[in-house]
Amino acid sequence: MIIAANLKTNLTRSATHSYIQELQKFADVSSSDVLVFPAMTSLDNFQTKSITIGAQNAYPTQNGAFTGETGLEQLDEFGIKTILIGHSERRHILGESQEFLVQKFNYFKEKGFKIVFCVGEPKEIREASKQTMLTYIKKQYEGIDTNYENLIVAYEPVWAIGTGLTPTLEDIEDMHAELKKISAAPLLYGGSVKVNNAKDVLSVKNVDGILVGSAALYAEHFGKMIQYADELDKTK
Ligand code: PEP
Repeated sequence: MIIAANLKTNLTRSATHSYIQELQKFADVSSSDVLVFPAMTSLDNFQTKSITIGAQNAYPTQNGAFTGETGLEQLDEFGIKTILIGHSERRHILGESQEFLVQKFNYFKEKGFKIVFCVGEPKEIREASKQTMLTYIKKQYEGIDTNYENLIVAYEPVWAIGTGLTPTLEDIEDMHAELKKISAAPLLYGGSVKVNNAKDVLSVKNVDGILVGSAALYAEHFGKMIQYADELDKTK
């Protein structure tokens, strides 16, 4: 399974070092792929073999005049080959368009990056109808190579992110079955996964892992989720 932590704009570089060190106790003995996306200024040469460090964002360029952005050259410095693209906070708060996401996707695909590509619907779309929801989400795949070998998709309902709300397990199963028809890539669920619901979510059919925000800020909690994934792996 794939257990991923999106630390967003949290933890300083030194706090991220302590976090990675603590998390290693869990990742070192795990059969899961553990991914951590620290804040951009917290990227560093982390001494870890069991945790893959990824970038929460980057600009599709080697380097250049893109004030405030991070290019390939800056990621290369830390050996980063994994990136998160299409997170709802970048789509909805930072205003990234589908066209720009496709541009980023193609750039980092061409560079061979592992890409965690996020899709998910806002509340009003979910409340409209299942068909509206599917039409909305299918548009988020437009222009994306769904057969890309290093693609991981994360289904993250926008209304579930950071709210403590989650779809029912049946709804997650239903949605994941639909999304697997669009892409056979590993499919993560994200949105208010906590220690107390992680095991249930991980048990759902077609859930190949989880992407965790707030609850992942506690290494112990995130570590527990890694253990759950391993326990489930054993019983499969
Ligand atoms: C996220 O932002 O990717 C996320 C899943 O956040 P949270 O776990 O806090 O809902």
